[in-house]
Amino acid sequence: MSILSVTNLQKKFGDLTVLKDISFQISDGEIVSIIGSSGSGKSTLLRCMNQLETVTSGTIEINGKTLVKTENGTPVYSGKDVQKEILMETGFVFQNFNLFPHYSVLRNVMEAPVCVAGVAKEEARKKAMELLKKLGLEEKADAYPCELSGGQSQRVSIARALALEPKILFFDEPTSALDPELTGEVLKVIKSLADLHMTMVIVTHEMAFAKEISDRVIFMDKGVIVEDDTPDVVFQSANERTREFLGKYH
Ligand code: ADP
Ligand code: MG
Repeated sequence: MSILSVTNLQKKFGDLTVLKDISFQISDGEIVSIIGSSGSGKSTLLRCMNQLETVTSGTIEINGKTLVKTENGTPVYSGKDVQKEILMETGFVFQNFNLFPHYSVLRNVMEAPVCVAGVAKEEARKKAMELLKKLGLEEKADAYPCELSGGQSQRVSIARALALEPKILFFDEPTSALDPELTGEVLKVIKSLADLHMTMVIVTHEMAFAKEISDRVIFMDKGVIVEDDTPDVVFQSANERTREFLGKYH
């Protein structure tokens, strides 16, 4: 079953077309990495999924619900309730953590369940503590984001993204802001989610990790999908653009 379906997605910023006719599907339990040079449109694509950007045209369906579809050349967004539902079914992890700086770690994780989903505080607290424990952050529950290492911050942001039990998790370069010695602890957490068959879309420059963890790898270049296949096929591709990009990582 397809959890995410993107069809003929186009995104323009003024005259600049950043996403050109993007189509792909993600099935339940699938792990898909998106790779590509800086400026190829990876973040914009993810931002369209969580409505931080409005799309220019195309269709996005998440878990069988249409978020946006194009009618007579104009994108039509679904109703407010559907958007809220979709927000509750997707989790996002950003490069720079985006934690609420004035909230404790525990409150960061509890905030969406309590304020968006209307979960009772005690229940949300219990669930948040379980998640923090799972991610090895139990002792940091009362700490503030400024007191955390980058690796810990990113693990909190993963706990926060998991708090609403999303159907699909999106990561936008989750380790790019981390020192190399902290990257491993975050990749390990993502890998543990993979072992639990969490559906994930991961924008990353960690090629070895992408190769190891992904069911599929999408290579984007200048706003188009050049490759969408198994890691074996993509990393062995004879395509010139793919080879040139991957060549930078050797
Ligand atoms: P990536 O994540 O692959 O590095 P981005 O999606 O961030 O790429 O950017 C793709 C292109 O869109 C770049 O040329 C970037 O300059 C442009 N872009 C991104 N956001 C905006 C914006 N808000 N306004 C204008 N151009 C933008
Ligand atoms: Mg980006």
